Amino acid sequence: MKELYRKIKKIDKLLQMPEFKGLRDIYSDAYLMDSIKEAVKMVRTQINENIITDENNIDSAIVSETIKNITLEQKPNLRKVLNCTGTVLHTNLGRAILSDRAKESLNNLSDQYSNLELNLITGKRGSRYDHITSILKKLTGCEDALVVNNNAAAVLLVLTALSKGKEAIVSRGELVEIGGSFRIPNVMDFGGAILKEVGTTNKTHLFDYENAINKETGLLVKVHNSNYTIKGFTQSIPTEELVPLSKKKRVPIYYDLGSGALFDFSPYGIQEPTVKSLIKSGVDILSFSGDKLLGGPQGGIIIGKKKLIDKIKKNQLLRAIRVDKLTLSALEGTLIEYLDMGKVKTNNPTINMLTVDLVTLEKKAKVLQEMFKTENILFDIKKLNSLSGGGSLPDKKFPSFCLVLDVTEDVSIPELVENLRFNKIPMLVRVKDNKLIMDLRTIKEEDFQMLVEEFSKVYNGTI
Ligand SMILES: *Cc1c(COP(=O)(O)O)cnc(C)c1O
Repeated sequence: MKELYRKIKKIDKLLQMPEFKGLRDIYSDAYLMDSIKEAVKMVRTQINENIITDENNIDSAIVSETIKNITLEQKPNLRKVLNCTGTVLHTNLGRAILSDRAKESLNNLSDQYSNLELNLITGKRGSRYDHITSILKKLTGCEDALVVNNNAAAVLLVLTALSKGKEAIVSRGELVEIGGSFRIPNVMDFGGAILKEVGTTNKTHLFDYENAINKETGLLVKVHNSNYTIKGFTQSIPTEELVPLSKKKRVPIYYDLGSGALFDFSPYGIQEPTVKSLIKSGVDILSFSGDKLLGGPQGGIIIGKKKLIDKIKKNQLLRAIRVDKLTLSALEGTLIEYLDMGKVKTNNPTINMLTVDLVTLEKKAKVLQEMFKTENILFDIKKLNSLSGGGSLPDKKFPSFCLVLDVTEDVSIPELVENLRFNKIPMLVRVKDNKLIMDLRTIKEEDFQMLVEEFSKVYNGTI
């Protein structure tokens, strides 16, 4: 064994080997030497364990270990996965995917300087929020706007800025927990607002709000139920009814809208008030996510009355949660698509996937089924429901067409599902009653070829 150790060349000698010529064209010697050192350690272990017993194999083992290490290390960990689950806003899979326009904005800006905080007309310092203000005014009818990192940050900021040390009145039916242990009561507490609960879990009346308002009241807060529904004997106060009370008592209303739709989904059976209609109803401040129903990048959009937005902009917390230029550019690209409401349904992938009709989905299913047939993988086509996900529209079922793979003697579905996830391009599917389901709603046609190739490789490796 000792003999073999001695046959390992010095690192700088190893580096000079012709096998490393290609890598030296790409990487620095210092980096390569580090990687070779790691490889030598591995080879020593292999000698120890009698995996390498012939001195003629040492060099080649070092070369292949080095290449393996570098390849692994240089491959980004965060990468594309094929979402075959049918869940459009899948939080684990990064929620909304961007439109072409948003992607283009992002690409154009990512390696360039920009006028992020420069007013090009005056040559003086500008505000990063100005870039999206006029478009949000046009799309929602608001007086002013700003954007922070995400909607959770927006909620915290609004509560801190508008009701710190004061009472914030919320209906007991709206004290919700959003995924990842974000609980409205705790956030209020954290923001320094004094939570004043009114009503009961299932019913809150206007007089409940009215009775709770006193001189300590800073804010009326409404929270979108987002990820759950209360059924049966229920009542909550719509914003239109709360507005006159808020005006009379001079206490502003803040609505944490969660998802926030700029597109009117009602013709597609999705009952979700548009942001514009809520602003019109007289809500003073609204906040919503960038990467839920809006279909843009992660962000928390705060809109409403200028006087209140000004106050929010002055809060110190804003500096800690401020949005970066890449998010802003992707958001601007996303919003520009909304200027043409006739086209945004096609151009915004989230809206497109949520509103796609059954005829299109069935056609897609048939095409994909045929493509799999040529690989001898036989799927059935079934009409099943998909979910919108991302804590939005919990009750809404979206009828869809799916490819369904039943158990055969050769294939273990759990093993196949796992191997699909382990793949170089991971594929996420649904499983129900030991059947593998791929929902066409979230599978792009341009990915069909790749999906069939990658799936077949895994499938054939599993049987
Ligand atoms: C999703 C959601 C949030 C959190 O928004 P993020 O953008 O995920 O931070 C806050 N409030 C409500 C009602 C939500 O639905």
